[in-house]
Amino acid sequence: MRVIGVLGGMSWESTQSYYQALNQGVNQALGGFHSAQVVMVSVDFAEIETLQQQGDWETAGQLLASAAKRIEAAGAECLLLATNTMHKVAPAIEAALQIPFIHIADATGEKCQRDGVTRVGLIGTRFTMEQDFYKARLKERFGIDVVIPNEEERGVVHQVIFDELCHGHINDVSRQRYLDIIASLRQQGAQAVILGCTEIALLIEQHHTPVVLYDTTALHANKAVAWALGD
Ligand code: GLU
Repeated sequence: MRVIGVLGGMSWESTQSYYQALNQGVNQALGGFHSAQVVMVSVDFAEIETLQQQGDWETAGQLLASAAKRIEAAGAECLLLATNTMHKVAPAIEAALQIPFIHIADATGEKCQRDGVTRVGLIGTRFTMEQDFYKARLKERFGIDVVIPNEEERGVVHQVIFDELCHGHINDVSRQRYLDIIASLRQQGAQAVILGCTEIALLIEQHHTPVVLYDTTALHANKAVAWALGD
């Protein structure tokens, strides 16, 4: 079994989900007392969030690249960046590493492709929904068209992530708002909806809606488990 590196803390609420999914995935495959071999560095999210607000992606990329190098030096054999948004600076992180970087949009795009999904809804932070680093990768590598919520809905999705989910607050009213937005993406022709923020699965689960959901945290962790076990 190979050692999985996790660059987490963005936020730590979802890093817990990664840690659990990695261990459960390995245990399901190998049974007994088996668990994942993990090296993790967890950053202070306040620093990252401030840089996001300032639009200083270059400094954020340097900070995360340096954390990633510490993970590699500690013996990780691949790296998971445990947030969709900060994949905006994935090129800076990848450039600093010798070990493979498992991109969250690839884990998601591969799942869409396996399911024959060519038009997909995307909810996540404003950065992920509005900028191109994520949507363009799905289009260019997997031929998938991405539908995003309207301006007002994007504001709601973004605000709930930062004001509630990153602080571990799970709110029924927010869940219903998300479910309405997911239903509206379905009406616009999305065959499934990507939960493109690693905290969203803390709020929305598949049993809440008939619309097919792709939880990026689970897909990303599963891809790493398959890789660690030699796929
Ligand atoms: N975890 C979130 C994501 O997957 C948002 C926090 C962040 O901005 O990194 O995008």
